[in-house]
Amino acid sequence: MPALYTGRFAPSPTGLLHAGSLVAALASWLDARAHGGAWRLRIEDVDTPRCVPGADEAILQQLAACGLQPDGPVLRQSQRGDAYAAALQDLVEKGWAYPCGCSRKDIETAIESAQSQPVSRHSAAVYPGTCRKGLKGQAARAWRLNVQAVQTALGLPALTHWTDRRLGPQRQNVPEEVGDFVLRRADGLWAYQLAVVVDDAAQGVGHVVRGQDLADNTARQIVLQQALGLPTPQYLHTPVVLGANGEKLSKQNGAVALDLQTPQAVLSALNSAAQALGLPAMPGQTAKVHALEKWTVLSRSPR
Ligand code: GLU
Repeated sequence: MPALYTGRFAPSPTGLLHAGSLVAALASWLDARAHGGAWRLRIEDVDTPRCVPGADEAILQQLAACGLQPDGPVLRQSQRGDAYAAALQDLVEKGWAYPCGCSRKDIETAIESAQSQPVSRHSAAVYPGTCRKGLKGQAARAWRLNVQAVQTALGLPALTHWTDRRLGPQRQNVPEEVGDFVLRRADGLWAYQLAVVVDDAAQGVGHVVRGQDLADNTARQIVLQQALGLPTPQYLHTPVVLGANGEKLSKQNGAVALDLQTPQAVLSALNSAAQALGLPAMPGQTAKVHALEKWTVLSRSPR
C-alpha cells in the first residue's frame, strides 16, 4: 500500500548544505516521520552551470551524517529531460505554451515603450507578453506559459489562493504579478518551475516542506499543476535563517557549509536547526542523534 504521506527534500547541488538548508531538510524529514510517511530526496541539478561537481554526493553524506536517510532512490533532475519535454509538449499541444524571442533588453524596451510604470518584483521585470501572439521575426529563445490562456480555459480566477500550513492563507495574481513565466530557458535548460512540478508529481509528493524564501513560487507551481492536470500538494514554508549580518543565509551570500565532522558538531547543527523551527533542543551533549525521532514533532506543535 502506498504511504499516505509523501514528502521530499530537494537541494540544488550548488554547494554544500548550510545551517539554513538543514532547517528545511530537518523540517521535511520530521514532518514525514510524524505522519508515518515517506521522505524522498531529489537532487535539483537542472541548472548545470550553477552546479558544483561533487556537491550532490557531499550533500547525501551530510544528510546521512545527520541521520536523515531518504526512502527510496534519489531522483536527479539532470536525468529527467524526457519527462520535462513531454510536459512542455503537452502544454504546446493545448496551446498554453509559446516560444519567446525576447532578450532581457527587448523586455525592458517593451515595458518602457508601453509608457506604463514598469511592474517589477524582486527587481525582475514582469514579462509584458510580447511574443504571446507569435514571434516577430526573432528566433525562439525560451518557452513561456500563457497563464491567462490556462486560467481562462480551465475557468480559474486570476488570483491563485492556497493555504500554507505555517503562513496561513496566501494569494497571488500570477498574470499581473509574475506574467507568463519561463518553462524552458533561452539557453535550453529546463526552468525550475517546470522541473519541480513534474518531479513532485512523479515522486507522488503530497506535502512540500521547504524554506520560506521559496514561498513566492507556489502560485506559479499551482497554475502549472492545473495546466498539466497534476494534483496540488499541501505546502509548509519553514522560517528563513538569518546570518549575523541580518541577511538570509544562502550559498549566494557566502553561508558556510555545515561542520559535521564529529557527533558533537552534528548534534549542535541539528539543535540549531530545531531551534529555528521552534522545537526544543535535545538535552545533553551526548544524546544520540537518532533520539530525533522522539522530539516534539513539527506538525503537532504549530507556531
Ligand atoms: N532546489 C531548491 C533549492 O535548493 C528547492 C526547491 C524546492 O524545494 O521546491 O533552493
